[in-house]
Amino acid sequence: MKKVSLSLISFLIIAIANINAQEVIAHRGYWKTDGSAQNSIAALVKADEIRVYGSEVDIWLSSDGVPVVNHDADVTLNGDKLMVQETPFATLRKVKLANGEPLPTVEEYLDAFKKCNNIKLIIEFKTHNTKEREDELARKVIDMVKEKGLQNKVEYISFGINFVQQAKRLHPEAPVYYLNGDLSPQIIKKMGLAGLDYHFNVLNKNTNWVSEAHDLGLKVNVWTVNKEEDIQKAINQKVDFITTDEPLLVKEILSKQ
Ligand code: MG
Repeated sequence: MKKVSLSLISFLIIAIANINAQEVIAHRGYWKTDGSAQNSIAALVKADEIRVYGSEVDIWLSSDGVPVVNHDADVTLNGDKLMVQETPFATLRKVKLANGEPLPTVEEYLDAFKKCNNIKLIIEFKTHNTKEREDELARKVIDMVKEKGLQNKVEYISFGINFVQQAKRLHPEAPVYYLNGDLSPQIIKKMGLAGLDYHFNVLNKNTNWVSEAHDLGLKVNVWTVNKEEDIQKAINQKVDFITTDEPLLVKEILSKQ
């Protein structure tokens, strides 16, 4: 009898803990550590090592159609500013990240991700000059994800409505989140997305959106939460995911709840 009630109690404790489980996403990988850099392959591997829920990455299409990893719309090479989407891959390849890695292709990134055992990859499609270019990037990357058998390990995010629609169309089983902060949970639900992924200021202004999203069966991710007080606020708001440049700090604060 005692044994039964003990296991029942531990089951209930685990169940209750899971209700409020909040997950950490390393923004541009785990880069605030030795040998790493934003959006580098090292940052992806290090995010896997610290066992967060996911590692986020930003992607573009080069002028000659190669999907590449970079955050900003431009890169600096020998003092010149070059727009990523207007530059051929051979030139982009000469760009070195802060840790010395060459600017990675999405293909190389996915190959490195294939060896990661603990994380999801959160792929952010950056908005491009035309719908055709965006469609080409979405198609090429989602084809690659499928060829490499990574369908169940990726999620997609974007500020662009076209991209969230393309991702939903090309990979219907994958979670897709919208970043721009201007659409209510009701509209996100109608669009068939998994949820909202908004800046913390948006959630602070629209205080009902987290509970409204949850009532609609949507998930809520918040970015980019780095300061202790903002992290605590996001936890209190009961968001599902916290995207951060400080994944270890968020993990530590979560563990104390
Ligand atoms: Mg991003």
